[in-house]
Amino acid sequence: MASKKVYLDHNATTPVDPLVLERMIGVLRNSYGNPSSRHAWGAEAVRLVEEAREQVAELINAKTRQIYFTSGATESNNLMLRGILPKSKVDSKVVASTRIEHESIAAPLRTLESSGWLIRYISTNKDGIVEPSTLSQKIKGDEALYVEIGAHNEFGTIQPLKEHAEVLAKKNIRYFVDGAQIVGKHPINVRELGLDFLSFSAHKFYGPKGIGALYVKDRPEDPSACALLQGGGQEHDLRSGTLNVPAIVGFGEAARLAKTKLDSEAEHIRALRIRLWSKLKDEIRDIRLNGSPEFRLPGNLNFTVPGIEANAVLNLVPSLGISTGSACNSDSVSPSPSLLAIGLSDQEANSTLRICIGRFTTEEDVDFAAREIIRAYRILQNAVL
Ligand code: PMP
Repeated sequence: MASKKVYLDHNATTPVDPLVLERMIGVLRNSYGNPSSRHAWGAEAVRLVEEAREQVAELINAKTRQIYFTSGATESNNLMLRGILPKSKVDSKVVASTRIEHESIAAPLRTLESSGWLIRYISTNKDGIVEPSTLSQKIKGDEALYVEIGAHNEFGTIQPLKEHAEVLAKKNIRYFVDGAQIVGKHPINVRELGLDFLSFSAHKFYGPKGIGALYVKDRPEDPSACALLQGGGQEHDLRSGTLNVPAIVGFGEAARLAKTKLDSEAEHIRALRIRLWSKLKDEIRDIRLNGSPEFRLPGNLNFTVPGIEANAVLNLVPSLGISTGSACNSDSVSPSPSLLAIGLSDQEANSTLRICIGRFTTEEDVDFAAREIIRAYRILQNAVL
């Protein structure tokens, strides 16, 4: 019998749901038309794309014309910050943001900075929350945009989006949320929140990789001038390139499933996370949770055990899919800037592990993971003594 393996890295990516896969296979097999073609095959592809757009829009309560398909949240974030923002007719070269952004926001912000923009960084508290009162104090009113990570990819903290939206609406500042980690796991209603832009990605909620969207409240006046990819004029000139129909259909199905499961799934996953955390907390000396205990993604645990290198733990648990920091920069040896921004030292950041439970995780998986992780820490802590 193959030895047991448990995947607990659902912040990095999720497996494709079997129902999503089934729909995608059907499209790959039978519906190969190009949506830009003016024949029956093209029309069939258009029908599939527009049905998926409807499903994606429904997940966040947007209108279909506000959804632009991209290759994922990285592209959506770049399209917004390097495409739409510099071309928008706002007389400001100031953006407010935080020090805990994903690189796909942080890097474009640095690019803007090097071309003369001012980036005003708003500090977070030790849980990684931008307190609404801090936001209110620090937003001056001259910003073209405020952009923040909706839920954190490493330590899972969910921002008080509603309160932030209220502060920003009062000051008439546009609001852009990187929703890669929050959409599909937590209810997001763009209309109720009054969001101007939202990026998200199918592979974070059981859809395929390489497909995502940017929600844009009001279509830019000259979309083709904003586009990073110019060409055939797909997606109303904002993102040229032949549409990836099977992936879009998978994205739509993943969105439909996420919407029907949102509450019950969060409850199931949260219960498993609490179960796992109580075992780890009881058995591992000096362990401490990072991020907000209360306002966090249901499946996310991120913890530090001072003095014990996270990489050494990983080497002792090859049967577990867990990670140090975020998968996107896990090759890098430098400590996570987000962990440093919420007050961890370099050593503490390097002694931090991230676990994320998902849709198909069972109690048995969690208990197995707890045993493995506790065993690893026992070995390492006894070696240090
Ligand atoms: N933003 C956040 C918060 C993320 O966690 C990720 C994925 N790690 C991205 C953006 C990039 O998403 P994608 O993989 O779809 O490019």
